[in-house]
Amino acid sequence: MHIPQMLSIKKITDENPFVKTFWFNYNLNSQPGQFVMLWIPGIDQKPFSIAYDDSAEFGLTIFAVGSLSKKLFELRVGDRVGISGPYGTAFSIQNDTHYITVAGGYGAGPLGLLTERLAATTNSTVDFCVGARSADLLLFKDRMAKLPHTTVQVATNDGSAGHTGFITDILSGLIQKSHGKKIILATCGPELMEKKVLDCANKNNVDCEVSIERFMKCGFGVCGQCCVDPLGLRMCMEGPVVNRATANSISEFGNYHRDKSGAKIYY
Ligand SMILES: Cc1cc2nc3c(=O)[nH]c(=O)nc-3n(C[C@H](O)[C@H](O)[C@H](O)COP(=O)(O)OP(=O)(O)OC[C@H]3O[C@@H](n4cnc5c(N)ncnc54)[C@H](O)[C@@H]3O)c2cc1C
Repeated sequence: MHIPQMLSIKKITDENPFVKTFWFNYNLNSQPGQFVMLWIPGIDQKPFSIAYDDSAEFGLTIFAVGSLSKKLFELRVGDRVGISGPYGTAFSIQNDTHYITVAGGYGAGPLGLLTERLAATTNSTVDFCVGARSADLLLFKDRMAKLPHTTVQVATNDGSAGHTGFITDILSGLIQKSHGKKIILATCGPELMEKKVLDCANKNNVDCEVSIERFMKCGFGVCGQCCVDPLGLRMCMEGPVVNRATANSISEFGNYHRDKSGAKIYY
């Protein structure tokens, strides 16, 4: 499981002008929220959330930001990369529940997969909430709009689609609208956005599942790089998806994270 499989890139699709999905023919058998380690020999190995997985193929939705991801964007169909996993914890999949999923950036990937699984296997309903700077950068709006029991909620900073402002601005209203139902907030995205979602869950006393990302070197619990204060939970094993009580116990959440040398970087 920890030895990377060398898989050929089967297809590369554009999600928006800056984001691509890399597709592989492989039955990963993953749960929404889990991640894989992607290795480009001679460059690096990094974790990526699973954005699509239908048993026959899986897809990773990636922003080109630094050394590994920019190298990946230079690869072509047929080139091979190392994949190991799936690793980590997953979002829960429950019946008779109203999910409010709150995504920013590539966090739309795992929450998109969660929403697809909920639509296919449960009677639960979903408000899929996604924010971006402008309409052309919104991820998975059309993919989610096709699903049953699912409503897409959008926010953009410049007002070019949906609510003008942050996606977290509309959360309390959505919770009030579903009053009386069992509600789960599920979030993946920039940490300060996730912290607002957690605060909103605490205020309204509803369940919350948060994907907490930390710098990961091994991905399977050995190196200790992704341990969080104060309890030392490993975000690659006890996370990345944690429940509300665990997220509340992580004192560094929303305050700081650590770079690859272990130095604290404050938000
Ligand atoms: C559990 C988990 C799941 C992840 N899933 C995804 C995913 O689905 N898609 C995805 O694109 N990335 C994902 N990441 C981030 C990914 O692992 C890498 O950190 C990212 O691709 C940058 O690696 P790099 O080597 O290209 O850049 P580096 O060389 O490590 O970084 C270069 C510069 O970019 C900055 N940077 C790093 N990450 C980001 C970012 N996300 N946005 C803006 N600036 C950044 C760094 O601070 C640095 O200044 C995930 C991380 C974790 C822990």
